[in-house]
Amino acid sequence: MRKYILVFAAFVLPGNLTAQKPVSSTAAAIKSQASEAIESGYEQYQQLALKIWDFAEVGYKETRSSGLLQQTLADNGFTVEAGIAGMPTAFVATYGSGKPVIAILAEYDALPGISQTADPEKRSAGKEAGHACGHHLFGVASVASGIAIKKLVQAKQLTGTIKVFGCPAEEGGSGKVYLVRDGFFKDVDIAIHWHPGDKNEVTTTSALANISAKFRFYGLSAHAAASPERGRSALDGVEAMDNMVNMMREHVPQETRIHYVITNGGKAPNVVPDFAEVYYYVRHPKRDMAKAVFDRVVNAAKGAALGTDTRVDYELIGGTHDLLINQTLAAVMQQNLERTGGVSYTTSEKAFAGKIQSTFTSPVAAADAAALINPLKLVTVAGGGSTDVGDVSYTVPTVGLEAATWVPGTAAHSWQAIAAGGTSIGTKGMMVAAKTMACTAIDLFLDASIIQQATNEFLKARGTYEYKALLGDRKPALNYRD
Ligand SMILES: [Zn+2]
Ligand SMILES: [Zn+2]
Repeated sequence: MRKYILVFAAFVLPGNLTAQKPVSSTAAAIKSQASEAIESGYEQYQQLALKIWDFAEVGYKETRSSGLLQQTLADNGFTVEAGIAGMPTAFVATYGSGKPVIAILAEYDALPGISQTADPEKRSAGKEAGHACGHHLFGVASVASGIAIKKLVQAKQLTGTIKVFGCPAEEGGSGKVYLVRDGFFKDVDIAIHWHPGDKNEVTTTSALANISAKFRFYGLSAHAAASPERGRSALDGVEAMDNMVNMMREHVPQETRIHYVITNGGKAPNVVPDFAEVYYYVRHPKRDMAKAVFDRVVNAAKGAALGTDTRVDYELIGGTHDLLINQTLAAVMQQNLERTGGVSYTTSEKAFAGKIQSTFTSPVAAADAAALINPLKLVTVAGGGSTDVGDVSYTVPTVGLEAATWVPGTAAHSWQAIAAGGTSIGTKGMMVAAKTMACTAIDLFLDASIIQQATNEFLKARGTYEYKALLGDRKPALNYRD
């Protein structure tokens, strides 16, 4: 009966029915539409990324970088909530309503102590920081991807909610941990991220859990020659601690990584320093082991203070989980990365890449490797780095990729990474990431069964573990770069 009424209505009012029906495009057509929308914004996105590259603002000081991304999202119809979770440069931009809720993560902090122009030879830009991890590209690709999805939701080709999270201070500040801790991912179904790199590959490598702290030693100042017996050197405390930790390296599990920099060692040799500070990172593929080794580092600090007759305290600065890989989502993203394709260099980009590669000390991949897509790997062993995306990955199913924004063979945190990131080599790689993330999100919007399957895998992998931030209940370390 119902069928007859419909047929009759269709016969009488074909125009109206057509207008009310959702646009019936296939997933492939919608993906092409999104990719074209991103490509048509290339010049605008490139300018945006190069501005943020030029700002080179460090963790929690990314006022202008965060502001530009927020403005771009607001101009495109997103509702932007800024200064969330106690971090002035964090934000969440939302468009749409209801399920699914898909989140795209954006980063934008630079690294202190490294500066480089956009030239293929080592040349300082004279700045205190540089985008040696490519987070200027990271932020813009995620924003571009979010805007492409928003257009599809607005046109009712997709139904649900898209959120772009502005995540400050990835480099050591653990910005995402506070977003997770404050419940900003509670209603999120899937989180998507990416990272600049020297190849195109879906991420199936976990990351190291990481705990960092600043150890502060307090002594007594005195004239270093006239009355040294009246002084107690805080720097002695730091050096004794470092010696003990360096001996400890032989007696920790193989995969452990420990590194430090002395951030304050006194000011003048003829004054016994009454204050000294050392900044430590302790990493291991398993968070419990990272914590156990960190506790031993704390004991070394206490022993050093006792032996040098100084006092020590410490401040936890960062704490991030390892990365939980989701193979269901990785397989979906792989198809979209292959669909998008890599970066092919122009003649001048090839020349730039050749010059960069001539500065490497170890053998490198071919320059045209940026055009290739690596096959999906099934291994989930931990790699050498850490990321606060790890904390997101223990909260919601998470998937990410690496896109070739750097000349093949380039290491992260190098001048070569800053150089390429300031050119079209970087911004073209950024477009690969933006399109791949948008197409992956489209699959999730169109097929709820993928989200269900990814969630089942996530719940099984997480097991009974209940998320707990490794940095406890501390407030964001907004001044950790001071
Ligand atoms: Zn980095
Ligand atoms: Zn990074």
